[in-house]
Amino acid sequence: MARGFIDCHCHISASEFTTDTDDVLLRAKKTGLKALVAVTEGASEFEKVIQLSKIYPGFVFPCFGIHPLQGSGQDLHSVKVQDLEPFLHLFQTYKDNIVAIGEIGLDFTPWYASTTQERDEQMKVFTKQLEISKELDLPVNVHSRSSAKVTIATMKELGIRQALLHNFAGKPSVAMEGVQAGFYFSFPPAVSKNEQRANLIRQIPLEHVCLETDSPALGLDKHVRNEPSNIAISSEYIAKVKGVSSDVVMEVTTQNALRLFSKLKV
Ligand SMILES: [Zn+2]
Repeated sequence: MARGFIDCHCHISASEFTTDTDDVLLRAKKTGLKALVAVTEGASEFEKVIQLSKIYPGFVFPCFGIHPLQGSGQDLHSVKVQDLEPFLHLFQTYKDNIVAIGEIGLDFTPWYASTTQERDEQMKVFTKQLEISKELDLPVNVHSRSSAKVTIATMKELGIRQALLHNFAGKPSVAMEGVQAGFYFSFPPAVSKNEQRANLIRQIPLEHVCLETDSPALGLDKHVRNEPSNIAISSEYIAKVKGVSSDVVMEVTTQNALRLFSKLKV
């Protein structure tokens, strides 16, 4: 394959990109991006990611997933079973189009999920989607916040083999349990401002690291829209932390991404 980056976790169907998707993707291609894994937060985005994958074939690869937090801004709240159940048939309908299940996961940040009931519902929505990934033989694209240990334990218990832990911020010892289970870890540009994360990245073998932007969130400046063209920032930072060249990071992370997302053809 041609040399280049793969953005393994990007919200290209977000409303922030509605007016200039073409320009955003052109800029990304110019910086060497070869493919983009498009995750969703809710069922309202399913049709959009499928549409985008048809407009940009071989470049935008869609995933379906229901995020542990729903809504936005003031209205951000913990997911409920009703956010998933009415849409289960869509995973079946589009099983040949999607390349992974995501963004799914657990977010136990106290101000969003303080009660046992909220956490139980999140767990139900997460495990149901892990089951779907096994049924459809697809990898998972996973969010974990204030829940690193339980997220990895749940995935291992259910026998998940193919997983990306995006923007993981748990302890290195917990990450290593994921590495042992064969999971991959991806890091967005924002981590380059976080010394603690350098310590984590140093300990995860490069053979288990992927690149992501999480656009439009998690850029270098949280007040500026992040874009997939910023993938090189993640690559350069990981290179610096690991003491290898950015070229090596590009090559190894792209191989990792193609191994994990086996339906990606670039
Ligand atoms: Zn995300």
